[in-house]
This record gives sequence, structure tokens and C-alpha cells, in this order.
Amino acid sequence: GAPAESDLTLRARAARAIPGGLWGHMRAQGLPPGYPQFFSRADGCKIWDADGREYLDFMCSWGPIVLGHHDPDVEAAADAQRRAGDVMNGPAPVLVELAELMTRQVAHADWTMFAKNGTDATTVCVTVARAAGGRRKVLVARGAYHGAAPWCTPSLVGVTAEDRAHLLHYRYNDVASLEEAAAQAGEDLAAVLVSPFRHDYGVDQELADPGFAQAVRRLCDRTGAALILDEVRAGMRLDLAGSWEPLGVRPDLAAWSKAIANGHALAAVTGAERLREAASSIYATGSFWCGAASMAAAVATLRKLQAVDGVARMRAMGERLRDGLAGQARAHGIGIRQTGPAQMPMLLFDDDPQAELGAAFCAEALRQGVYLHHRHNMFLSVAHRPEDIDRALEATDRAFSAVAALRG
Ligand code: PMP
Repeated sequence: GAPAESDLTLRARAARAIPGGLWGHMRAQGLPPGYPQFFSRADGCKIWDADGREYLDFMCSWGPIVLGHHDPDVEAAADAQRRAGDVMNGPAPVLVELAELMTRQVAHADWTMFAKNGTDATTVCVTVARAAGGRRKVLVARGAYHGAAPWCTPSLVGVTAEDRAHLLHYRYNDVASLEEAAAQAGEDLAAVLVSPFRHDYGVDQELADPGFAQAVRRLCDRTGAALILDEVRAGMRLDLAGSWEPLGVRPDLAAWSKAIANGHALAAVTGAERLREAASSIYATGSFWCGAASMAAAVATLRKLQAVDGVARMRAMGERLRDGLAGQARAHGIGIRQTGPAQMPMLLFDDDPQAELGAAFCAEALRQGVYLHHRHNMFLSVAHRPEDIDRALEATDRAFSAVAALRG
């Protein structure tokens, strides 16, 4: 299935007006056939493309939508603040309210500051860690995504070796490789940057081994390096107090964005007391960082997630989907792997290194009105109800048939 009329026309116009038609991860060229590039509307767990076709949404805008698109309580709060004043000469009172709320809610946090994108937040974390001890080296897991700035972007195009000079790599969940990288950094170790679980593009997700998380904590305690948890993708979907709270491991700094304001542009950095002075010493700011409407949206989002036990609801719907998919794959005799937390599902097919089976599966599901991803983890929201999951499973059953037919 080719995309329909308006999408094609928009793509042709975009190809002339925008380099490459679009930037980064939202380019539709990398998606299975039939996937739209442009969307016109979103509500709850549904999205509509530019040609008016409706889909059940399992990407949630790549994470930001956690309560559902256009949540009425979040939008009312954001609208009221926008009418009163949004981007002004300084912040609105809601800045303090939100900083207090985040600092109370996030277990490791003694303070909170704000920015716009996840990349801002991870960059501020690294800068604060370096400011604290005057050290330079940062350990990152090979293949992990932490943003699109020169120091961390996955592409080296247009990036200098100097931009990456102080990064050292370890393997996720591999304590020996972590210790090896730390030894290489020696006295110059500023920080260990780590994701709550391994959610790299195109590979099976891996939950953090508790022993690994504890080893990261011990290493940082021993060396004085800062433990930075990148909560940008997982934050507020696993545990509202912090994704490593169930493991009993607290970071020194954490980067947040995506889900904290249910689709409004906002990022946050939370930190421990010992980094407060360093955080106040760095120069980090932006014209839109004090935008008050997104902060009002965040207050409403965090309160509602707590009130409705959003994490448990997303997990339950994720498990309903996962159980259904597992049963269907078995019935069709197709080997699949479902990895990571159920509320952030990843579905990969066995013997499918180029994700061709995955692409065929997703293309058929899309034709049946269900928007999935064949190589990236997906996202559940609080707006997904049992009947939505069951509707999605009707589509995926046909999609498994398409895969079975393709395999012959
Ligand atoms: N860290 C992680 C783990 C992410 O998933 C992302 C975004 N996909 C980022 C950082 C960067 O966030 P942003 O795109 O908002 O800059």
C-alpha cells in the first residue's frame, strides 16, 4: 500500500522545502510500506493521518503521550496558563510548584531544574557532573541513545572527534566492561550515564540486572563520579518515583522529558544535594525553558498519573497485548521475541535480521488500522482500554497470517 494523496503531495512539497524532506527519527522513509508521514489529528489512543485514516496508536508520539492524546485535564491546565501568560520575561509561579512536585515525587531528587528537550536534559546532567569535580570522562553504554547533540548523536556526520574525545564505552549489564572503562578514565571520571533498561534501536530490550545497577552505584560512590540516569524515554512509565527505585538504586542526577507533560515541550533535571552548587554554577538556559503552559501541563500530568495509578494501568494493558501476541504467534507457528517492560513493548521476529518480517507484520497491522513499530520499542498510554487492545489483537492476528504467507 502506497500512502494516499495528501500524504504524497505533502511529501513532495516537503522534499523541496525541507532538507531530506524531514530530519531524524520521524522520517517515514525508514518505516514499512504504507506508513504515513503526516498526521492531522490525535485523540485518546487514536491518531488520524493527513488523509483522514484512523489508527490505534502504539507509538504515543515516541513516548510523550502517557495519559492519551489531548487529555482534557492536561489541556485545561495548559490552556488556562496560556491565556494568563506562557513565555514571559521570567517564569510563572507554576515553575516553583512543579519543581516542588518533582522534588517530592522523585525519590533521589533534592532539587529540580527545567529545559525543553531530552537532549537538553542529558547535556545539562553531563555539564553539572563535569562542573562538580572538574573531571571530563563520561561512560556511556555502546549503542545507547542519549540525544542528538554533537557529544552524543549516533551519527558522526558533521561531528568532530574532539566532540567525542571524553566518552568511553561499556556494555549494558556487563560489570567487567564498566570497570574496564572506568579504569581507562582513571582520575578523570566525571560520570556514568545509564538508561533504566536497555532500549536500543532494533535489538531486544534488556531489563537492568540489579547487580549491574548496584555495581554502577558502587563505582560512582568509590570514584566520586556522578551516576546519571537517562529517564527521558522510560520516565513516568515504570515508577513515578524513578525507574530504578524498585532496584533500590538512586542516581545522583536524572534527565527527564517525553512523558512528564503529556506531549507539551518540557524537560527536567533532578539532582542530589551534593550537586546543587555545581548545578547553580553552570550556564544553561533557553528562550523557551520557562514556558509556563508546559509546566502547568506537567503539574496536571504528574497529579493525574498518580491519581489514576497510570503505571499499573499501562502495565496491565501492555501485558494484555503481550499475552495476546504470544498466543497468536504460537498459533501461527511464528517465532517472536517480546522484551522489556510490557508498557514499553518491543516485538522482534526470529530469523529476521533485516526486520523484513517485522515490516510485513506492521504494514498489515497498519492496513487494519493499528500503528506499530517494527524496530523501535512502542508505548502504551493510560488511554488504552481493554477493548482497544482486543481490537489491536484482531489486526495483529491478520498480520501474523501475512507473515506466515510471506514465509511460505
Ligand atoms: N535519551 C533517551 C533515552 C531518549 O529516548 C531520547 C529521545 N528519543 C533522548 C534522550 C533525547 O530526547 P529529545 O529527542 O527530546 O532531545
